[in-house]
Order: sequence, then C-alpha cells, then structure tokens
Amino acid sequence: MSSRIHNPDLPGSPILPGATIGMVGGGQLGRLFALEARRMGYHTIILDPDSSAPAGQVADDQIRAPLADISAARELAARADVVTLEWENADVGAISALEELIPVRPGAGVLRVAQNRILEKTEARRLGLSTADFRAVSSQAELVDAVRDLGTPSILKTATGGYDGKGQAVIRSPGDAATAFAELGGGVVPLILEAFVDFRMEVSVLCARGPDGRVESFPVVENRHQNGILDLTLAPAPLPAPLAREAVKIGETLTRGLGVVGLLAVEMVVGRDDQLYVNEIAPRPHNSGHYTWEACSVSQFEQQLRAVCGLPLARPELLRPAAMANLLGEHCGTGKGLLSVADALARPGLALHLYGKQSARAGRKMGHLTALADSAEEAATQVMEARAAIEAEYRRNPEPAAGNRGIE
Ligand code: AMP
Repeated sequence: MSSRIHNPDLPGSPILPGATIGMVGGGQLGRLFALEARRMGYHTIILDPDSSAPAGQVADDQIRAPLADISAARELAARADVVTLEWENADVGAISALEELIPVRPGAGVLRVAQNRILEKTEARRLGLSTADFRAVSSQAELVDAVRDLGTPSILKTATGGYDGKGQAVIRSPGDAATAFAELGGGVVPLILEAFVDFRMEVSVLCARGPDGRVESFPVVENRHQNGILDLTLAPAPLPAPLAREAVKIGETLTRGLGVVGLLAVEMVVGRDDQLYVNEIAPRPHNSGHYTWEACSVSQFEQQLRAVCGLPLARPELLRPAAMANLLGEHCGTGKGLLSVADALARPGLALHLYGKQSARAGRKMGHLTALADSAEEAATQVMEARAAIEAEYRRNPEPAAGNRGIE
C-alpha cells in the first residue's frame, strides 16, 4: 500500500496526501487520528494485537501483532511512509529498530524519557523547570531516607508503567513507608518518591513540533480528575494571562528540549504559591486535547498529522470556550442503544464521540462529550448534565455484564 510519494532523499520534503501513516497502538487516540488522516486524503495502517481495536475499525488496514514482534514492525515499516504512535509505552527497543528503517515521530529518545517518571522530572529540571521535589528509590532503606528528606505527605509512584493514578501510594506519616513499599512491588520496579505539592488546579498544555523545529501550542486547559482518571477538561483554563503564558512556555521548552517531532502533552499543577510544577509528559495526542476537535481551528490529531508529515503546523486558535467530559464504562456501558444520548444531543453545542469498544467496565474510556458555550464553566455544566442523564438511564438499564478487556 505504501506509495512512497515523498522523496526520502530530500530531508525537508513533506509527506503528502496519498501517503500511508503507520500508527503504533490501536486505541481511541489512534482512531481519532485515523479519522482526521482519512479526511485529509492519507491512508493509515495500525499496529495492535486486538482484532476489535478502536483505531483498526476506521483505518485502512491493521497488522494484528504486538509491537515487540520484530517481523510485524518490519512489515509496518515496509508498508508506511512514516510511523507515529498513540501509546507511549511502546517498546523502546522495537521503536529503535523501526527508526533504522523509517522516520518514527516521535522517536525512541523521547519515548525513553516519557516512560520513566525519574527521567521526566530530571529532564524538566535540566531544562530549568520546576517539579515536585523527588528521590529515586530502589530499596526500603532508601525510601525511609527519602521520606525523611521530603517529609509527609509524599507520594510513592512506580517510575514506569503507571497510568490513570495507578501504581501510586500516599505516605501520610513515616510509619506508612513499609506498607507503601510492599504495595508497589517491594523494589521489583524502580520507584520515585515525590513531595506533595499543595496545588489549586491541574492544567495541561499541548504543543506540536515539526521536523523543521517550528513549534505551535494549543491553549492551556484545566483538568479535573476522579479516582485518578481525567473526568473533565475546561478550555481555556481560568488562569491569569501571565500564568497561562508561562504554562505554554514550559510546554514549548520541553518540546524543544526533548527534540519532539509530533505532539507533546505536558501535565502541570498550579501550586497555591502560583508556581507551575511539571508532573507528566506524553508524546502523543492527549485526552485533555479532545475538545480541540470541535472548539479549535485545528484538532490535536490534524496537528499531529501535520507535524509527523512535515506539513506547515496550524496556529491553534480556541474558537469558543469548551468543556469535555469522559464517558467511562460506568457512565454508559458501550454507549449502544441509550435513548438519553438523543436527549443529550438536543442541547445546543453538544457533541458525542464513542470509540467503538465492544465491552465496557468501570474506569474504561468508552467515549466523551464536548460542549461549546459562552464560558468554559457553562460548557462544563452542559457536559456534566448530559452525562448525568446518560448515566441515570444506563444505571436503570445496564447492559449484560461484559468481559474485562483491560484499560487502554
Ligand atoms: P500522575 O499519575 O502523576 O498524573 O498522578 C495522578 C494524580 O495524583 C495527579 O493528577 C494529581 O492529582 C496527583 N498528584 C500526582 N503527583 C502529585 C504530587 N507530587 N503532589 C500532589 N498531587 C500529586
């Protein structure tokens, strides 16, 4: 299927419509990317082992294999013009091997940092940015020392492999250290202890960088979490303009400093001292950027495509205040057959996305709602009311229990 319509001998030459984009990972982020790619005349091929992967349903083709499967990676390289990803925990070794064959954007160097909280925070500090104080911990004795240094409360996290608030334990007093250490694997995986930041708001910034080094950023948004999972995003974040500018500058510093080609989402907390602390980065589209589909002059997925194909980046503009609420398994099941969805869509400015996942469970991201309104708070009210109505109907009439397909 690869058309090889760009000239790989010309480094500045863009990858044009008609080309094939390989996507590592087949979840909802890949699905929304593939829809945008198709709109713009590109082909997509997904690498994911799941035969019902959300992205595989809308892409041109899917290679059903894990990325660690080297022959599958080779096939992806042979059939695509460029490779991008929607999942930052892709195997770094396999991505490095792919990079020998084809441009992979972002590359293995960025992934290595994004997969490890210790490297993330170390890099942020190297670039002059603030993070929570932290210590790398590999034994219980080191944890006891670290708790003494950083004080309580503090948060023990696995350095790798955590997501949506998983792999974390709050240490409220030094006596909690042993239990927390055992809970997180007793030193089998590397750990990080972070000082607790007393914050008033969580925000994120999404930046794009092209192969030519140009950077463009989306507005800063506020994120509210429930049980460690993103619940609600408000765009724009209610921050004073200088603080919002500072947040964008932090995002751009990391994007340039890590040499990202593609997207970089940077999660931060706003301390009660009005200082911004970098918490996590993700070199891919981000749940907090879903609102861009309806509310911005360019969606995060189109911007990812522009960046990885070497097309001019769009200058993102927020066209209207917006809010996005996730639809989890407990809110709507798979979302099939709910009359309340029709009622929700009767609200002006409300949009629905469902990811086509075939089974639901609590905490699994099944879709999202976006509302546009005159203010982000008003939009938030709209999406929360719509979601509450959907959830109420779903609770009255839940789907038959479905198998556990794991979080994506
Ligand atoms: P994370 O998986 O690092 O994004 O953490 C999940 C959530 O825990 C964040 O969204 C914050 O609400 C909270 N959190 C994480 N790290 C800290 C910290 N150092 N201080 C205070 N709250 C934190």
